[in-house]
Amino acid sequence: MPRPLLLPILLAGMLSGAAFAAAPGNDPAALARIRDSAMSSDWAYAHLADLTDLVGPRLSGSPGAAAAVTQVAAAMRQLGARVTLQPVKVPHWVRGQESAELVEYRGRPAGLSQRIVLTTLGGSSATPAAGITAPLIVVRSFDELRARAAEVKGRIVLFDVAFNQQMADAGLSGAAYQQSAQYRFNGPQRAAAMGAAAVLVRSVGGADFRIAHTGLTRMADGLSIPSAAVTTEDALLIGRLAARGPLAMHLTLTPQSLPEVDSYNVIADWPGTDKADEVVVVSGHLDSWDLATGANDDGAGVVSAMAVINILKQLDYHPRRTIRVIAWMNEENGSRGAQAYFDANRAQVGKQMAALESDHGSGRPQGLRTSAAARDLPLFAPLQAALLPIGASVLRREDAVDSGDLSELEQAGVPSFAPLIDGASYFHYHHTAADTLDKVDPQDLRRHVAVMSATAWFLANLDQPLRRWTDPLK
Ligand SMILES: [Zn+2]
Repeated sequence: MPRPLLLPILLAGMLSGAAFAAAPGNDPAALARIRDSAMSSDWAYAHLADLTDLVGPRLSGSPGAAAAVTQVAAAMRQLGARVTLQPVKVPHWVRGQESAELVEYRGRPAGLSQRIVLTTLGGSSATPAAGITAPLIVVRSFDELRARAAEVKGRIVLFDVAFNQQMADAGLSGAAYQQSAQYRFNGPQRAAAMGAAAVLVRSVGGADFRIAHTGLTRMADGLSIPSAAVTTEDALLIGRLAARGPLAMHLTLTPQSLPEVDSYNVIADWPGTDKADEVVVVSGHLDSWDLATGANDDGAGVVSAMAVINILKQLDYHPRRTIRVIAWMNEENGSRGAQAYFDANRAQVGKQMAALESDHGSGRPQGLRTSAAARDLPLFAPLQAALLPIGASVLRREDAVDSGDLSELEQAGVPSFAPLIDGASYFHYHHTAADTLDKVDPQDLRRHVAVMSATAWFLANLDQPLRRWTDPLK
């Protein structure tokens, strides 16, 4: 008699096995359900409001960055994700006084000066508290800087290089940014090496609202120099006055580099089923510049990644591989979070199956950029079909996506992904005092969540791992 008793047990086992096997995977209906859930959810926008309105600016090392870690970790725990805080030592740079005026120029009425609107660059060193006064020279390229090297010593150098908005309008905003931002990254140390007293750059961005754009400048050891970005309008004024004759500026910048601070990447896992040890990273960066609340850079990216778990939880969907949401720390001025994660996973990088980061604002997503192997692109047809109804079916292959926090993983062979975003107006507000919640369109943010969720799900359920460029027979 005991034998027949086994049957119901076996049946129950088979049924649950069958239910497991019937987990939705990458069938079109599941992808469509993920997309539609994202398009009808305001979870991401509500969490973006919490991050930007309640926490505010989140530069590494600041109390805001610490509060953001706590807030995001709590939100992910509330969803039932497995949360870990990965320790990261971060730089702690703080802005001080920042002011400038042109005190000498040809044709200046007695007693007048012209105020210049500027903002200190991240990593800048300080002038004395009372400021410096020095002659100013204007250059428009590194070639011109070299040609005029004899004039640089003791002067304030302005790199007056216009942002190419036409390129941004044509869909190449990232390339336009790199073209101008090289002067912000490298100009100060190059001019410092020639003995400059301070460096100014024209703000990197396409808007003309007389707002200054901050951002990181590289400072080699021993070549630290006071550095700031002037607004486009002020760069144009300086250029016009320089054409009339010599000019001089009084400049006061008093930032400080404080001792490094303990901080964290927030890591939230939605565990996989039969391939739980294989990981698909979906991410944004949690730190932001200090002038505003980082709604676009990169609050939108972080909450879009966080919302992936919310969507899957709502649908009770469990992927084959683990979907790992990461809110990176310190993308803006050091990439220490990315470095800590890479160091921790370097030996097992084969288990990092794919990585996705959104860090190009909350403009309308048109699809995906990816460094996946060209031969694997046909696999993505079901994902593209699912994203077609929201206008996000483009799959643009690039040799390197080169998203800041993913670049080491990508160089180690991990296929990388980023939403392909309309960034024509992204650099109007990026790194300015105007990067605030009101710049984020709730409908576009829903589209971001749809792209991130469907992509993460799709990657986590692929039958075969994607090829890597490091694979011998790729
Ligand atoms: Zn960013």
